[in-house]
Amino acid sequence: MHPSRKKILDVAFGNDNGGTNTHGWRAEKQDRQVGDEWTDSDGVTWVQQKGFKIVKSKFDDVRQYIQSLSTCKNKGCKTIKKTEKHLQFIRKTGYCIDCLAEKEQKFRVNGNWNEYEKWKIAGYEIEFLTDLIKKFKDALVEADKEHEFVTAEGKIEKWVYDGDVEELKSNIRKDIAEAEENILGYQKIKDDSWELIKEDYANIFTE
Ligand SMILES: [Zn+2]
Repeated sequence: MHPSRKKILDVAFGNDNGGTNTHGWRAEKQDRQVGDEWTDSDGVTWVQQKGFKIVKSKFDDVRQYIQSLSTCKNKGCKTIKKTEKHLQFIRKTGYCIDCLAEKEQKFRVNGNWNEYEKWKIAGYEIEFLTDLIKKFKDALVEADKEHEFVTAEGKIEKWVYDGDVEELKSNIRKDIAEAEENILGYQKIKDDSWELIKEDYANIFTE
């Protein structure tokens, strides 16, 4: 091949010039610093790491969220080993057992521990009853159904409630009404005690 012909082909197919020339298009090269973020033409966001780049995704937010579920909100938290019990408290209250106890102690010091406890217990009761109502409502739907099971031998067995379904449902409805009434009662206790502790609460749980 004639050298000049080869030169043209090389340039055209990017064999020349260190590969930056391809069919006459010049790739814009940009050096990235660690931590740089950019979005490519496909809309994918990249983050430059030391020596390589990774795709940044929504998972980063999810990871952060999951992280927060196991991190005590108290910046000065001294609990090093967090047991499952600690993690349960963090998920529920934001604080590990020790930090929560330390914070709650301040309600005692301020003399309104009883109101704080009432407020807290009423909250738990409301949560419990709300959950119970949901189960009752599921039971109402289930009571009407014919349940089918396939046995180990492959036979289909039909199970139905062998009592009075209407009576069962009417009892469940009564239970729901009672639970709803109890929620109203607890809500009143919760609101009343909140009025008395809300200022303290804001001061104590600032973090
Ligand atoms: Zn803590």
